[in-house]
Amino acid sequence: TTNLIWFRNDLRVTDNPALTNACKDQNATVIALYIATPEQWKMHHMSARQAYFIHVRLTELQKELAELNIQLLYQSCNNFTDSIDVIDNICQEYQINQLFYNRQYEFNEHKRDCLIKKKLKKSVKCIELDGNLFTIPLTIRNGKGEMYKVFTPFRNTFLDQFIQTDYHLYEQPEPRENQKIKSKKIPAFDYPTEKFEFFSPITKKALQRLEEFCAEKVEGYTEKRDIPSLDYTSQLSAYLALGVLSVRQCLHHLTQEYPRFWENQKSGAFSWFNELIWREFYQHLMVAHPRLCKHKPFIEWTDNIQWKNNKDHFEQWKAGNTGYPIIDAAMRQLNQTGWMHNRLRMITASFLVKDLLIDWRWGEQYFMSQLTDGDLAANNGGWQWAASTGTDSTPYFRIFNPTTQGQRFDPEGIFIKQWLPELKQVPTKLIHTPHQWAEKVGKPLNYPNPIIIHDIARKVTLEAFEKAKKTD
Ligand code: FAD
Repeated sequence: TTNLIWFRNDLRVTDNPALTNACKDQNATVIALYIATPEQWKMHHMSARQAYFIHVRLTELQKELAELNIQLLYQSCNNFTDSIDVIDNICQEYQINQLFYNRQYEFNEHKRDCLIKKKLKKSVKCIELDGNLFTIPLTIRNGKGEMYKVFTPFRNTFLDQFIQTDYHLYEQPEPRENQKIKSKKIPAFDYPTEKFEFFSPITKKALQRLEEFCAEKVEGYTEKRDIPSLDYTSQLSAYLALGVLSVRQCLHHLTQEYPRFWENQKSGAFSWFNELIWREFYQHLMVAHPRLCKHKPFIEWTDNIQWKNNKDHFEQWKAGNTGYPIIDAAMRQLNQTGWMHNRLRMITASFLVKDLLIDWRWGEQYFMSQLTDGDLAANNGGWQWAASTGTDSTPYFRIFNPTTQGQRFDPEGIFIKQWLPELKQVPTKLIHTPHQWAEKVGKPLNYPNPIIIHDIARKVTLEAFEKAKKTD
């Protein structure tokens, strides 16, 4: 028998159900495959940093697989449609009997897999597994048998299942005997890539980050997770988005460090668990409501909003030149590192939608084009939450004030000064309103004036939402 394991967003050898199952039969020949799809990536606005991360990670994965005597084949084609033929050709060339992969739940990915199964139907057996979430979408249902629309009851049902499940991690398979491999260097992608240091592609380093976070930071997570200058979140998001680590590995380490953490729902461990379940929630939601993959809001009347879509404002927001220090510092963190703290994602998204009255989909796309951890479900969920177009999102009349948000979550201006060196001279007390200080002391400031007045923008936005709701 010859088995093909197709890696997609599960670039790991431990806790990988598809890999473990492909290797179960000791006598089978096992080959691995990755297919780059640059045109598709472009359509999904994948960032150059994420492409770089996939590339360096594939090189590591190739080494890890070589230690198991498994060869990683690499192919590139335009898009998902073309990848169907690539798979078909590989199956013929290597006389594959069984194709193994972990399911991806996004609309285009799911459609591609259905077409592949149809094409290979007679010649190759397709074995689909679930390795990228803790629970399989549509298996957590409310009393009516439907997907929950609200997070907390979803989380509670999830927790009941979690406590009752005797889950295990899939061991890394043993090295294959009698398999000789010749590894070819993974060629450069036909896609822009941008080097960065923030996430190491080495498995050991990713695991170390997880272990250190569970041992040292989880305890203070509830109090400190909202303060961007403290670096108190796990910074594991790119590993989870590309499957370098699995959510099961995260939950396993958490439970090892904090057995029965759910008994104290105020604990840091429970708060972190909660965040991991938000990830599951958004993925489940996307499967239950495929329109979320098609640029549609969850709340339909919000499609009637008359956006201003001022292009200059959009450029100023992207570049971090809005004149609101917390917004600008956050956007510069994103532009320079490919990662942004969660609280800041919420504040900057709210600013784009509710202060500038720009369509949330513009922001969603821009985030995707910058983030290393860009993930359709989490990004869409986050944007629809901030824009009040999603289910269980912030109500439309709740509008963050960018100045007071800054004062609350960066009271000393430590984060702001890190990313906006031009404000270094401004005293801490006035760091969130630097123009007032400049005027008072008569010093010119090399920093833009606020591009809108929040109180006025707020009223305009409320009117736009109310009008859209009435026309429903
Ligand atoms: P931690 O606080 O340590 O959380 C652990 C993990 O839980 C994260 O790595 C992530 O996988 C998951 N998680 C945490 N919060 C959320 C959440 N609200 N929704 C879904 N999953 C969550 N996350 C992405 O992974 N990719 C995105 O493209 C993305 N876009 C976002 C856009 C907006 C507008 C908002 C408000 C949030 C977005 N998030 C996204 C969620 C969240 O901001 C990031 O997951 C988090 O900041 C990553 O940092 P961390 O790994 O230190 O998180």
